[in-house]
Amino acid sequence: MLIKFWGVRGSISAPGPGTARYGGNTPCVEVVGSSGDGFVIDAGYGVVKLSDALLASGRAKGLTIHFLLTHLHWDHIQGLPFFAPIYVPGNRIIVHSASEQTAREAMSRLFTSIYSPIMGVENLGASLEYRELTESIELAGARVETFPVNHSVPTLGLRITDAGKVMVHATDHEGGDPAADRRLIEVARSADLLVHDAQFTEAEYLRYRGWGHSSTEAAVRSALASKVRLLALFHYDATHTDLDVDAQLSRARELAQVDEQLEVIAAAEGMEIRL
Ligand SMILES: [Zn+2]
Ligand SMILES: [Zn+2]
Repeated sequence: MLIKFWGVRGSISAPGPGTARYGGNTPCVEVVGSSGDGFVIDAGYGVVKLSDALLASGRAKGLTIHFLLTHLHWDHIQGLPFFAPIYVPGNRIIVHSASEQTAREAMSRLFTSIYSPIMGVENLGASLEYRELTESIELAGARVETFPVNHSVPTLGLRITDAGKVMVHATDHEGGDPAADRRLIEVARSADLLVHDAQFTEAEYLRYRGWGHSSTEAAVRSALASKVRLLALFHYDATHTDLDVDAQLSRARELAQVDEQLEVIAAAEGMEIRL
């Protein structure tokens, strides 16, 4: 399984020299299974980079693209109007989410004349299909299971299994709720990779408790308790510079030292992980 990070920033884009290393685009993660096919988790502005890559390699036509939307907060869908394959006739865009109805309404609003020059979702070139991601599906040769994470709206955590490797994606999750923590730890037990919300430092978290995001410390606690092999910090606050993310990573590695099997990295735009 190959995981490509196209956008790792939380809530608000953060372009500029201070964020050039980790990147300023909002969440988008591509997963390519051992079959060679793949799918895309969330469509923040990072999806525009994926779009550029598809165009540059001449692969933007004849596509079936599966988007797994963890939830429909703006930072997880705002890139869709700028995803070029959505305008190409013959392409199929399949939107998987917690609620088919809500996704349909969100997509419809996203392309109304108020926001979009194409004047309506029905004028897109690609066909759009909506599917409810409830429990477990086979996608691109991988098994995708969902679980609820702790956020302000129903939000899907994802457990992806392919060729014996397991990745767990838990963005927009606030650690600290005992039931939600237990559920995540159980789902992520012995996973090869845990991608975990790390929006805040611990000091910031104390100010933003209840906002639906985790501190670096909470991400490490989940990784340690579930004995994952690799933790990738993700969904950094837009105010965090590269140096701030470096400091989060140092703090996470310090805390993770108690488990010599656990490796910690900070997800960055353009980073690829092969499991
Ligand atoms: Zn978010
Ligand atoms: Zn959110």
